[in-house]
Amino acid sequence: MNTLDDLKQAAERNNRELTIGALNELIKSLSPESYNSIIIDNAVAIKRYNYCYINAFTQSVTHKSSKRSAAVDGTVKETLQAIAAASNENPYLPLKDRTIIDIMDQAPKYSEGGFFSNARQKMSELVNGGRKVEHQHITLAEEGGHIAKNQTPYAIVAECSVSDCPKCKTLGTVEEQNKEGVVSQVECPTCKGRGHIGTLAYFIPTISEKRVSIIRCLEGNIDNLKTSTLEAHKGDDTTPVRMLTHYNGVDSEQFDPYITPYLDQLRDKTGSMNAIEEIYYRLIPCFTFSYRNVLTGEMRQGVVVDPFVNPELVLSLDSTSRKIFSGVKDSMKSINNFIGSIGKSTGFKDKEDLKRSIRLLIAIAVSDGDVSEEEKKALTLTIRKMDDLTSSEQEQMLQLLGQKDCSFLTDDDFIFHNKANAEETLGRMQDVASASDGVSDEERDIIERLRLAN
Ligand SMILES: [Zn+2]
Repeated sequence: MNTLDDLKQAAERNNRELTIGALNELIKSLSPESYNSIIIDNAVAIKRYNYCYINAFTQSVTHKSSKRSAAVDGTVKETLQAIAAASNENPYLPLKDRTIIDIMDQAPKYSEGGFFSNARQKMSELVNGGRKVEHQHITLAEEGGHIAKNQTPYAIVAECSVSDCPKCKTLGTVEEQNKEGVVSQVECPTCKGRGHIGTLAYFIPTISEKRVSIIRCLEGNIDNLKTSTLEAHKGDDTTPVRMLTHYNGVDSEQFDPYITPYLDQLRDKTGSMNAIEEIYYRLIPCFTFSYRNVLTGEMRQGVVVDPFVNPELVLSLDSTSRKIFSGVKDSMKSINNFIGSIGKSTGFKDKEDLKRSIRLLIAIAVSDGDVSEEEKKALTLTIRKMDDLTSSEQEQMLQLLGQKDCSFLTDDDFIFHNKANAEETLGRMQDVASASDGVSDEERDIIERLRLAN
């Protein structure tokens, strides 16, 4: 288990500076062999990138309000009268369960003129508008130190009422004259004999949870540095720690100065109105440097990842993948190759996995920028040749090429039937993503989501 202090201390360790002299020493000790085959270019300044791995759990509360007007009598009438007469100190009254809501749902509906416009508007002002439910006014049920998923309803006191039936004035019957002129008492059609109209306005606190795992860098991204490399430095115990509490009358925020700069990025994923934020984070500083390969004479970029805690040297960042694919155009070639090969690959006999794989690769391609007409044509031909897909399935894939981002992906796209297929796809996605000019946050998120799901 982590504490706030553990996270902060780890961040302090990683917040140190690295001189070019210390960098040389570090590389020498990490890999004497590599050190002897390269010459670090001291004229090019080393550049620091503060990556931050974040694993977070959040809960947020919304108040879904409803209003029911129906004919009432007996216990339901009395219950509603008691609610309406409740003290004005608290605008909301907890209901022990849904019973009265269910009874009102089954009772004869009543709608007076204008109810659907005015009353609804009034209610939404009370609950969702300027006077949002303030959390000190309600007590959410808890479970295992978190907000319980199931919550009991609250009556909105000012909006609950019982009134006399406007037609029969509480009698429950009205006079009716038949064709022969005989007058008799019949059941009141408005209140179905119940004599009163009751209105119940209520809301049920709805709890949403998010689990998010992201890697972010505020200084841009290092080209071709793989997510998997960074992720290996996230630490062993990534259990999140409570940093924010806003419910049941508690208002507490305990963010240290190291995590604060990344909160906006996290909340892009979790939303910003959270009742609970639990965060694990680990700074993973990376330092880039330039070097000349003694044997080939080529200039390259290298990176030292996590130098103060668990140093790792990554050389030839741009030699392998960059040589084969450079730029978006070539990454599309790689997608084409991939799509061409997966059709034949035995691992993808599972057609659903094949479709997942293609959708994910298209997501990576489109999230990287526009797909050119030429690339679309090439990809269209490849997909059209895939006999495993029906023509309507092919059509669906082709339509995705026109998407502007990866929002077409659903949770199902990340859950493969076969783990090997997921791993194969993951590797291809990393190749495609790192082939273009730097891995974008969007690409990183898609890759991360696939990794977490499998
Ligand atoms: Zn009536």
